Amino acid sequence: MTHPERTTTDKHGTTNWYRVHKCRCDVCVAANREYQQRWRDKNRTKINERNNHRYQENPEPWKRAAQRYKENNPERYREVKRKASDKYWAAHPDEKREKNKRWAQNNKQRRKELDRNYRERNRDKLKEQRRSKKEQTSQMNRKYRDRNAEKIRARAKRYLSEHYEELRPAMQANYRARQDQTSAVAHRKGLYWTGPEVELVDRDDMTLSEMAVMLGRTYAAVVEMRSKLRRGDPKALGLVGRWETDK
Ligand SMILES: [Zn+2]
Repeated sequence: MTHPERTTTDKHGTTNWYRVHKCRCDVCVAANREYQQRWRDKNRTKINERNNHRYQENPEPWKRAAQRYKENNPERYREVKRKASDKYWAAHPDEKREKNKRWAQNNKQRRKELDRNYRERNRDKLKEQRRSKKEQTSQMNRKYRDRNAEKIRARAKRYLSEHYEELRPAMQANYRARQDQTSAVAHRKGLYWTGPEVELVDRDDMTLSEMAVMLGRTYAAVVEMRSKLRRGDPKALGLVGRWETDK
């Protein structure tokens, strides 16, 4: 159906004007290109299947066309290849790992060099990662110890009694070394124990040597007081106001 009031210029920018009337003005070319792109987007699967089929039947012209494209558009070709390859390897993680492993085995020197470069470039980041990992682990360990304090003590006790003979020499040497270290700075040796001192000895977040140094007591004295507390010695418990709860 024609509209008499329309001039021919009204029809520019339609696919019909491009195809039937063979107009190649900017507007018509753009309209046709847009239409084709829409059609290709909509029929992507169909086009790929058809092209694959044609390629299988006669690959040579396709290879030649690819070669020509590569020569005329080296940048774009590299980008397309890289994108396709990224997509492929993202979809095949196991194969990628295998491939990288094989490459590393065949290029040991280069692999080492790349690793070293990476470490140098990311020194601060890696340091921070190590620190945070360490912090996480120690937090987890601390939580575990807090939750299972009784179990851990019982396990250690059992292990100690089962291996006492073989552990004794090392334990004795350890004890003597700590005793020597702490008694050199033990300025409160021989004095009566105070409540706050006994409370410190009851804590689980420090080592016994640290307590000894902090209190100016000898290692032996701290070990002895800790043992009294854990045994429920009334005098020791009295010093920290716990007569009635423990006996
Ligand atoms: Zn036109």
